[in-house]
Amino acid sequence: MNYFSTRDTERKIAKTSAEAIKQGIAEDGGLFMPESIPALDEKEIKDLIELSYNERAAHILSKFLSDYSYDELLSFANAAYSEDKFQGGATDISALGDTHRVLELWHGPTCAFKDMALQIMPRLLSAALVKTGEKRLSYILVATSGDTGKAALEGYKDVDGIKIQVFYPEDGVSDMQKLQMASQAGENVNVTAIKGNFDDAQNGVKKIFSDRAVAEMLDKNGIFLSSANSINWGRLVPQIVYYVSAYCDLVKEGDIKYGDIIDITVPTGNFGNIFAAYIAKLMGLPFGKLICASNCNNILTDFINTGVYDRNREFFTTISPSMDILISSNLERLLYLIAGPERCAKYMKSLACDGRYEVEEDVIAKIKESFTADYCSEENTAITIKETFEKYSYLIDTHTACALYASINAEKKNADEGRNVKILTASTASPYKFAADVLRSLGKEPDSASFEVIFELSKLTETEIPAPLAALRDAKVRFTESVGNSSEDMLSAALSFVGVKA
Ligand SMILES: *Cc1c(COP(=O)(O)O)cnc(C)c1O
Repeated sequence: MNYFSTRDTERKIAKTSAEAIKQGIAEDGGLFMPESIPALDEKEIKDLIELSYNERAAHILSKFLSDYSYDELLSFANAAYSEDKFQGGATDISALGDTHRVLELWHGPTCAFKDMALQIMPRLLSAALVKTGEKRLSYILVATSGDTGKAALEGYKDVDGIKIQVFYPEDGVSDMQKLQMASQAGENVNVTAIKGNFDDAQNGVKKIFSDRAVAEMLDKNGIFLSSANSINWGRLVPQIVYYVSAYCDLVKEGDIKYGDIIDITVPTGNFGNIFAAYIAKLMGLPFGKLICASNCNNILTDFINTGVYDRNREFFTTISPSMDILISSNLERLLYLIAGPERCAKYMKSLACDGRYEVEEDVIAKIKESFTADYCSEENTAITIKETFEKYSYLIDTHTACALYASINAEKKNADEGRNVKILTASTASPYKFAADVLRSLGKEPDSASFEVIFELSKLTETEIPAPLAALRDAKVRFTESVGNSSEDMLSAALSFVGVKA
């Protein structure tokens, strides 16, 4: 299976999967996509139903990552989704009434769905270094607004041949997120706060990545820069697995029959998670509507409804911060599949120049065959958390609430259309990761300003705190470094961690 850039109109530069994972982004600025989408036929899906999550993962991954062996992929999955890391299994499905099913993707070590990819991706990268004959150290730089940084640290800690440096905005992450990162274990990790906001952190990292002199200096010291963000194919492909696996689980438990259609709702930011559901659908899973749920940063809702993507709009800071995004990078992959590389390259150029693009009638019509979109206000996010808890004694976080709100709206529409299908809502974080806002949604103002709020939430709802978050009470802070917000300040911190003198 070869990989091509979404902007490579003549399919000139073919990469292996290992190369695509090592490189992250294509030379022309596009994203890597497999040359074709492999199919899963009926017999294969029925066979998968009888297998474990890790065996399903190895089977699906091996269709995309053809330069990795099945046994290799199975051993990575076994290590990534082990019982001590994912308590109670990699994923779980909860039923809310007849129609709604919730796919819990946050049972991993950092309690957010990003663990599903970031626990296995470091193993894919580490093997890719060997497969491509890379002798240099891979140095991963991450700018984070919270969830990605911790999940990347936890995934890459003590992985051979790799070091990781995370920058986060000093006043831009929650107390919980700060403590999670500052107490990170591992000999190859470093965490640095910057005196600025998330944009400063991201711009600084981008500048370091695009600086040729830096690349040369690192190369002389046997180091190259690498990234862990969600445009890397190595992060996307493990996400396809849980949609296939969830369907298998629903059939296995007798909740649906093989062949029954289900709709899927995903709380969306960068469009990575919902795109993985789309790939699973293209592979042959009987998925109906893919419902793209946003918060009041509803740029994707507008795009899917009108075909116009326009980032020239107000940016809102919400209680579902991981969806506060105006450039959904992975949407480029959908545009590539539906409109082709030529038009895709044209849209991306227009986005870079004017902050907007408009797709043709045929493109938006094709998108609407699979996708619908909805968004949830701050008020409705809180109401959904409260009502879901009152009705089902089921506690959800703010991101999942946006999606469940969209699922409930979709259920009404389905009823009007005479469609009787189950709706699977992806749940992307433990409610304890956003404990203060969840507590407020339930009508109680937190007494404590720090991460101690998790104990208040547990007492009020009589639900259990995930072990990795409870353990933070006794965690030792290892990283206290804080630097200025210029890219020079960040570069000198990054160089000093790998012992390189500028
Ligand atoms: C990252 C994140 C999202 C958004 O996922 P995308 O793949 O970027 O669309 C949603 N919810 C939570 C909790 C997240 O951390």
